[in-house]
Amino acid sequence: MIDADAAPCSVGVVVVAAGSGTRLGAGRPKAFVALRGRPLLGYAVDTVARLPHLASLVVVAPPDHTDPAGPSWAGVDLPPDAVVVAGGASRTDSVAAGLAAVGDVDVVLVHDAARCLTPLAVFERVVEAVRTGAAGAVPGIALVDTVKTVDAHGMITGTPDRASLRAVQTPQGFARDVLVSAYESGLGATDDAALVELGGHHVVVVEGDPLAFKVTSRDDLEHAERVLAQHAGAASGRLPD
Ligand code: C5P
Repeated sequence: MIDADAAPCSVGVVVVAAGSGTRLGAGRPKAFVALRGRPLLGYAVDTVARLPHLASLVVVAPPDHTDPAGPSWAGVDLPPDAVVVAGGASRTDSVAAGLAAVGDVDVVLVHDAARCLTPLAVFERVVEAVRTGAAGAVPGIALVDTVKTVDAHGMITGTPDRASLRAVQTPQGFARDVLVSAYESGLGATDDAALVELGGHHVVVVEGDPLAFKVTSRDDLEHAERVLAQHAGAASGRLPD
């Protein structure tokens, strides 16, 4: 939880929603695929809108879905001062576009719209870690499977100690200046935290949540539907606390 007595910090959130969702095969961008009658993006925006100290919300949408009054946005309750920008060909391009629009905030969170059921508490843990001094913070969960490293022929080259591994999720949070300079570096990385790590900054892992899973396949969508159905109030199509 955010410490109400501590000095407040302004938080900007970039929700990246510009992916094509090819693997889901729904014929529309993944963030706009319906989950119990509302786009995935709608659930993510609901949670972000409840975040304490929220100063700025940027949704990065596919270039042909940037009109929040358009039909694909039905069921997304965008706060009035939220901004929508067009995304790019890669997630990195989309984050950069969002970052350019997020404004002068202390902490920036980057969140995948596809992790639409991520609980508010995960956002709060990430903000709290950055507010109290970490350059970056990401939610992570312990692995249940043993992981192997392999070479190009599938030969096992190592078995990392599972206790030292975490599967990381979003939102990933950073001091704004740190993330901006990481993006200005022009380096490539698989996630925002890796870019910041390459810049020599310390990024911490906070407790993630199984509900922060990413909707990628049909199975994931069905899992999200079951999760919502199990919660009282799901009939309203709203995400429970
Ligand atoms: O493709 P993947 O599921 O890994 O994407 C993670 C998140 O990044 C999704 O919310 C997706 O909409 C977003 N994304 C984006 N722009 C891209 C590719 C992905 O905003 N070009």
